[in-house]
Amino acid sequence: MSDADATADQGGDDDPRTHLPADLDAVRDALVSWYEDDHRSFPWRETTDAYEILVSEVMSQQTQLGRVETAWHEFLDRWPTVHDLAAAERGDVVGFWTGHSLGYNNRARYLHEAAEQVVAEYDGSFPAEPDELEELMGVGPYTANAVASFAFDNGNAVVDTNVERVLYRAFDVPDDDEAFAVVAGALMPAGESRVWNNAMMELGGVACEKTPSCDEAGCPWRTWCHAYESGDFTAPDVPTQPEFEGSRRQMRGRVVKALSNHDELALDALGPKVRVDYTPEGEHGREWLRDLVADLADDGLAALDERDGEPVARLR
Ligand code: SF4
Repeated sequence: MSDADATADQGGDDDPRTHLPADLDAVRDALVSWYEDDHRSFPWRETTDAYEILVSEVMSQQTQLGRVETAWHEFLDRWPTVHDLAAAERGDVVGFWTGHSLGYNNRARYLHEAAEQVVAEYDGSFPAEPDELEELMGVGPYTANAVASFAFDNGNAVVDTNVERVLYRAFDVPDDDEAFAVVAGALMPAGESRVWNNAMMELGGVACEKTPSCDEAGCPWRTWCHAYESGDFTAPDVPTQPEFEGSRRQMRGRVVKALSNHDELALDALGPKVRVDYTPEGEHGREWLRDLVADLADDGLAALDERDGEPVARLR
């Protein structure tokens, strides 16, 4: 049992960690495998250079990632190392920032000043601790943690609105800053902040968006996800049910899609294609599915027959 599991087991009823599934390692492995299998490629994900990562973090605070990519490459062509940036004229750095529409000029000033600090105080080698990184000009707790994670694999769990949305939906974590922080921390595998924070951000960015794409994105947490089971996809930043995802409508769509690839399917063969948690006798089992197919039959879209005493569904 991991430390986090042990701690969660010791928590009382009001400990937010009790919202986490018992088998945390399976939850972690599922997310990391999903991320490693396929993810959006950003150049700053391919480097562990703290300077390059800091530049990407500061640029992306106010600018869309697509535009950051071009600016990031050009910035690093011009000032390839922290020494180069520290030796630059501040006016040139600010001019670059303005020329690339990267938002407040102060960020460029602070970045330049931070580079001077790293050269003067750390001989050009970034510190690896979030607390020390936070001492750099313009570097707040979020950026310090991001640099510590992605450059040194030495950060804490990132908690931003995307992560909160995922935790709220997946594990029914109460909408409370402290609860989110505690659960995010307990969930992160110790010492693996680089891959973990990237994977969580990817999950919030391409699967568990405000309108989630649970199946389309192959979300690895469908087995455990509270929202996926209940069909309620509201979240702290999504106060009303996202439009397309009324659960029943979504499930009907899945049935039609699954049946479109077959002449007919026994309900128990169809079930797992509709819900990953399908078990014939379960809450979302044969009876539930029969009801759903009957609805589609009423609408003239599907038919429910018997074959050797077993219910089978097909499209009309
Ligand atoms: S199953 Fe859907 S709602 Fe649940 S975590 Fe995954 S993407 Fe979010």
